[in-house]
Amino acid sequence: MENDFVQKEKETLKFWEDIKLLDLIKEKNKKGEPWSFLDGPITANNPMGVHHAWGRTLKDLFQRFKSMQGFSERFQNGFDCQGLWVEVEVEKELGFRSKKDIERYSVEKFVNKCKERVHKYSKIQTEQSIRLGMLRDWGNWQTDFDEKGEWMQKAHSYFTMSRANNYAIWHFLKKCHEKGLLYKGHDVVAWCPRCGTAISQHEILTEEYKEITHKTVYFKLPVVGENDTYFLAWTTTPWTLPSNVFLSVNPHFTYAKVADPKTGEFYILLKDKANLIENGQIVETFEGKALENKRYTGLFSELEAVKEALRGYTHKVVLWKDVTAEEGTGVVHSAPGCGQEDFKLGKLLHLPVINPTDDESKFQEGFGELSGKGVYANETRDYVFANLENKGLVYKIEDYTHRYPTCWRCKSELIFRLVDEWYISMDKLRGDLAKSVKQINWIPSFCLERELDWLHNMHDWLISKKRYWGLALPIYECSACKNFDVIGSKEELQKRAVQGYEKFEGHSPHKPWIDEVKIKCSKCNAISSRIPDVGTPWLDAGIVPFSTISDNNRYEDIPYFNNNKKEWAKWFPVDLVCESFPGQFKNWFYVLLVMSQVLEDEKPFKSLLGFASVVDEKGEEMHKSKGNAIWFDQAVEKIGADVMRWMYAKENPASNMRFGYSVAKENQRKILIFQNCFTFFKIYTDRSKVKSQKSKGQVKSQNLLDQWILSKLNSLIKEATESLEKLDPSKATIAIENFWINDLSLWYLRRSRKRFQTEENPEDKKQGEQVFYEVLLTICKLVAPVMPFLAEDIYQQLKDKDAPESIHLCEWPKYNKKLIDEKLEQEMQQVREIASLALSKRAELGIGVRQGLQKIKIQKSKFKNINQNSKVLGLIKDEINVKEVIFNGDVEGDIELDTIITEELKEEGYVREIIRNVQSLRKKSGLTPSDTNVVISYFVNEKLSKVLKENQTQILESTRSRELRESKEKQGEFLAQAEFKLEGEVLWIALERAT
Ligand SMILES: [Zn+2]
Ligand SMILES: [Zn+2]
Repeated sequence: MENDFVQKEKETLKFWEDIKLLDLIKEKNKKGEPWSFLDGPITANNPMGVHHAWGRTLKDLFQRFKSMQGFSERFQNGFDCQGLWVEVEVEKELGFRSKKDIERYSVEKFVNKCKERVHKYSKIQTEQSIRLGMLRDWGNWQTDFDEKGEWMQKAHSYFTMSRANNYAIWHFLKKCHEKGLLYKGHDVVAWCPRCGTAISQHEILTEEYKEITHKTVYFKLPVVGENDTYFLAWTTTPWTLPSNVFLSVNPHFTYAKVADPKTGEFYILLKDKANLIENGQIVETFEGKALENKRYTGLFSELEAVKEALRGYTHKVVLWKDVTAEEGTGVVHSAPGCGQEDFKLGKLLHLPVINPTDDESKFQEGFGELSGKGVYANETRDYVFANLENKGLVYKIEDYTHRYPTCWRCKSELIFRLVDEWYISMDKLRGDLAKSVKQINWIPSFCLERELDWLHNMHDWLISKKRYWGLALPIYECSACKNFDVIGSKEELQKRAVQGYEKFEGHSPHKPWIDEVKIKCSKCNAISSRIPDVGTPWLDAGIVPFSTISDNNRYEDIPYFNNNKKEWAKWFPVDLVCESFPGQFKNWFYVLLVMSQVLEDEKPFKSLLGFASVVDEKGEEMHKSKGNAIWFDQAVEKIGADVMRWMYAKENPASNMRFGYSVAKENQRKILIFQNCFTFFKIYTDRSKVKSQKSKGQVKSQNLLDQWILSKLNSLIKEATESLEKLDPSKATIAIENFWINDLSLWYLRRSRKRFQTEENPEDKKQGEQVFYEVLLTICKLVAPVMPFLAEDIYQQLKDKDAPESIHLCEWPKYNKKLIDEKLEQEMQQVREIASLALSKRAELGIGVRQGLQKIKIQKSKFKNINQNSKVLGLIKDEINVKEVIFNGDVEGDIELDTIITEELKEEGYVREIIRNVQSLRKKSGLTPSDTNVVISYFVNEKLSKVLKENQTQILESTRSRELRESKEKQGEFLAQAEFKLEGEVLWIALERAT
């Protein structure tokens, strides 16, 4: 069964391919108003997991919805291609451990490997997305590389590694330079020792902090001029101690001089921390400001690099109001070469800097035995402890567990080091950005606050990376005069090149080829080289509203850069972006905002639909290493794309989604209810007589149930349309599902079964069939954006010959206000309440529903919506099998059932029982409703025989049979036979075909 489901979807994919569905949609909507969707690029680095399918479902459902509404659209997919995530995977493949391995291997070969990896996984992701049913302009997959090894890209998806994308970023950076926003900063930044590159503030997400236990040390710093007196300080990073320049204390805190009876020494620390000294005696207390400029002896004064950097400076205490009392001793070890805050404070006070680390995070020359050792190596830590121990400066060493930042890519512990990096200054942009952010419709609404919060807290944007596979920053720094030039396009580079352009020509603007090109410094005419850095991949993803938007998705020819801004402006600002929000406030959303602000002084998008993360069924994060990750391929083969999409669409985007196969099964069961309604339609109606209604809202019926279901259907169209327009697919899908389960299946069909299954009233049946048909067709249209496969499958069996070829070429249904009858809906609601009360009463009393009862009394004041003469009373009678419904003010509880069973009622009950048993025998015999040439034989006692004879017409009609025949014995050749008991009497019946 499950595999049928999956097989059917594959056939439908083939059908769409054969009819060239996307071309037909574009043709249908080519004059439509544009509705612009921008795809956030998926990292082409691995096959998709189920978590990718959430966003991809939402993206696709909105594009399909808008195309049914007649909007013209671009259906472009994006792949994120450059950056550390690809580099690290290729390094793993090649078994590399550091940047040196890459250099030894050859940067050219390494970069080509990165391109190959992107190529491989973007192809896999394309196939997977097609399988998910994503309607996109995929183009032709072209696997060729040209003679220079450059990938000739013919797919219509955008790739952030493309020339177009990289040159567009050059344009942006040049604009930044012209506006005075680009600068080279000398600053302490977070740095990954393994990856050998700076990690910007944006990339350190809260989830990148890990619980780590470090060996920490309380150490002593001798106060100059006071015998046996020390400052007591503490650090979690012993490797930074040789770089200590000053100590910081809070001017407003109370400090103390504490005598240690064990050693006879005195320690200066926060008064509140005096208990660190066992049996310590407070000798004296004073405010922190009293300590200002107190001198102390440095810890590693013997090291050449320290002497060199300090040049006669003596270590001292400075006042700093940000010193806290939470950790340590309140006397803070400050090393401006190893900490961001320390660096800032030292700079302000013109204090020297000791910069210990090189690019590989090893100690530089001049640090004695430490030189060449990695800062996190155990031998480094042990050396520092031993050295201090020898000098008698260790107070105590202890383990300490805290949250510490790690590299988002390789999970190494980050360090802080002083480097030259390139930045975009944010202060000038902050105000305008906040204005743009407030013009955007953020869903969920808390996203607005989160984005504003980030804007408020963000530092300047660090854009450089000392890596290989990425945007070549077009910054040419003159070594003679320190001036730098920024190149804004390929043409400009060609014009200004004075060396090496021929070696670069024909290659993509990547390392190492781009670095062949030299230009002349615009200030001093010296030969100037490109800085070796590449750009952060967030530049790659942020430029896409400019670099990829074109009508035909063939972005070799970008309107924005070809004086065709009118075409480009048709699609900008984009109407919707839809991405998983964790992390993106500082990343994709943010870079889109910044780049649009700089280039166009405009918001990049009008609405944003954000969604949370996919977790496993127990609510735990999915991880490859934990073994609870579910790959997309596995899931789609098991449950099919539609079920997955339905689950995702129903989810509240503000909270994490729990994905698992038991949730899938539950959804499958609900979807099956809709399929069963359709199966019922196929079996019991004459499809050739039912026609799709060309003009909307022309379906009319005298039948109350029909009127009700049409009213409900039109209310549903209204609600679903409004919800989707408000970017709330959860509300829309839940309403649709409720409709087919509770309204269509559990009430309309339940109460219409007899009408469809018999020919009692042909005119009424015909009306019903027409209504039922419209309902099914409309549901197909409403679910088409979410379950494109199932909708197509049913539509193909329902559609008229001259109707559109695919459901996805149909118009989105419009509701007809005239068909919405709120009063009827309310009445029916109460009818259903009464029915449900009466049925549970029957169950309680043990009286089956086939046993007719005389009357039900209903509390008038409770069911005010129902009129005494209303036609809906017939439905109550049928549903709960009573002859009269009486409204009364004087009923105990809500309803009262008359439970006296007269002979007459008893007989009617028998007839129902007999009919039911014949029906089930018919089913067993494989007879269909159209098989009417059936003879029912029976063998029974006198009393029941009389009942059968008296009710012959009713029994035959209800069971679609020709003849009732009393038999003398219980045997013969029959299609099926059975015995059952009625009030203690045995009844035998058997079916055969009439001859
Ligand atoms: Zn790393
Ligand atoms: Zn110069």
